[in-house]
Amino acid sequence: MADDYQKNEAVANFIEYLKIPSVQPNINYDDCVKFLKRQAAELDMEFRVYEVVKLKPIVVLTWVGQQPSEPTILLNSHMDVVPVFENSWTYPPFSAHIDENGKIFARGSQDMKCVGIQYLEAIRKLKAAGVQLKRTLHVSFVPDEEIGGVDGMKKFVHTQDFKNLNVGFAMDEGMANPGEEFILFNGERSIWHIHIHCSGQPGHGSLLLPNTAGEKLRYIIDKFMDMREEQKRILESDPKLTIGDVTTINLTQLQGGVQSNVVPEKLTVVFDIRLAVTVDHEKFEEQIKQWFKEAGEGITYEFEQKNDPVECTKLDATNPYWVAFKAAADDMNLKLDCRIFPGGTDSRYVRKVGIPALGFSPMNHTPVLLHDHDEFLSVDIFLKGIDIYTKLIPAVANV
Ligand code: ZN
Repeated sequence: MADDYQKNEAVANFIEYLKIPSVQPNINYDDCVKFLKRQAAELDMEFRVYEVVKLKPIVVLTWVGQQPSEPTILLNSHMDVVPVFENSWTYPPFSAHIDENGKIFARGSQDMKCVGIQYLEAIRKLKAAGVQLKRTLHVSFVPDEEIGGVDGMKKFVHTQDFKNLNVGFAMDEGMANPGEEFILFNGERSIWHIHIHCSGQPGHGSLLLPNTAGEKLRYIIDKFMDMREEQKRILESDPKLTIGDVTTINLTQLQGGVQSNVVPEKLTVVFDIRLAVTVDHEKFEEQIKQWFKEAGEGITYEFEQKNDPVECTKLDATNPYWVAFKAAADDMNLKLDCRIFPGGTDSRYVRKVGIPALGFSPMNHTPVLLHDHDEFLSVDIFLKGIDIYTKLIPAVANV
């Protein structure tokens, strides 16, 4: 069975790509670039590599449309994958082993080498069928998404090279779903990582000194945790809500103190906050500043990360790409479940520069295993995904 699958060209390409260990950190992307260059030649697509940052290639394969001056379609995927704990895997994570049930085990099988290959295989089918598209397609393969895309998409969208691509609509990664529905993402929450420093009166641990760092820290933690409780209640009260719909708050680090009988002069707490897309950023910051004031003197804070609000991509008649996408999905009887992405992807950078973007990985009936041990995708779902793109791509490219 595994042998039969490997005779399939699309599966063979997928396996070859999965076997390239483009794993964080310090990735050498040479083998990815070489592989994609060969794909471009086979598919008769233009091939360009942009290096906004040295050794961080952004690979773009282009299929020029019949109306090349029209805004183009960007099909994005990232080349990097997250680290593995190899001992916890049933098969080596870069072996792309196909088991007797037709599951391909590999890091990147869901997140997201599958989608990169599916774009290319769909294009192969369309070209073989003699299809010509109205708009130009750019298929981009970017580095370092898994470490925030700082040297990849985040910088690339501000370059003249990117502007020259004239992108009107983009597609990027979504997520697997164990059920029948395909999950579609049209927005992302904003990430705030905040460090709050509480300073106060130091002294002997046997006293009840006033104005201590610990009292202030307690006040602040209570406020954030109360808000966390409230958001948890909102999420649990409505089964239609998913984690992307609420603001999440987690205490992730605590620092301070010198020894157990010394009241420290400073204590620091770090929170990972993901602001729901409905939150007013200015009001939210005013609120936490108010808490700091209430907690007492000597509180400072800084952001390790503070994403600006990014407008969600419209899922209504004002967005012709969505209308075309939806019509093609309906034609195939795909059930879509539209959500806000719980984490962060490169889509936020694309949306930030005003380009509508949808996050979609065609993986239904698949457990969510991104970043997990034994990440796998079944061959059938992978191949079905190619068929789905052969309908979706022309739909959005002919808008
Ligand atoms: Zn990903």
